[in-house]
Amino acid sequence: MLTAIGDVMRRAYERGWITTRDGNISMRKREGKYLYITPSGWRKTIVHPEHIVRIEIMKEPRTGILTPNVVAGQQPSGELWMHWNLQRDTKKTRTIVHVHATHIVAALYAGFDLQAISAEFPEISRYTKVGPTVPALPALSRELADVTAACFGIGKDGALAFDIVGQANHGVCAVAMDPWAAYEHIERLDHICEMVLKSGVPAPARVKVSAPA
Ligand SMILES: [Zn+2]
Repeated sequence: MLTAIGDVMRRAYERGWITTRDGNISMRKREGKYLYITPSGWRKTIVHPEHIVRIEIMKEPRTGILTPNVVAGQQPSGELWMHWNLQRDTKKTRTIVHVHATHIVAALYAGFDLQAISAEFPEISRYTKVGPTVPALPALSRELADVTAACFGIGKDGALAFDIVGQANHGVCAVAMDPWAAYEHIERLDHICEMVLKSGVPAPARVKVSAPA
């Protein structure tokens, strides 16, 4: 399955869903003591199993809370916390794929509601549960990581209510057991976003949220 991480990255690059150094994937095996995650800054077109960062999962002795133990020399993806939030309490093998899928980001930018348009297309609504969209937040921030987990409807047991969420002005995060299944969630949503955009139907007026004065 580690080989599939690089394969999915290469496919995402070919589809224009990432530029060379964007995107990240993590995997945790069932009851596994390691988090596997793509390296920071590395060219994603040449990710192979030997480049994947293997982080030991430690239990804090005092609190019993699990935490990723990044040691000197390891350079995991800058979105480590986005992955960790979704991986920490999983009971099953889980893969998270984060890319900047073009049509999904374009549809969000135009003002479409991903849940509303997904409900109109059986191609996606049968196989992929689309969650609420994460608002525009700085990349690599803890806020992005925390709000992404909240939009997935994460439960105390690590269960997730949705398979994919969009992240405004940024990208998308998808969850499945293996990298290719997560890829398929992104592909389905990207495809219907492309059809909606090509239909020429205008997006509903964007609701502008202004900061309090
Ligand atoms: Zn990103």
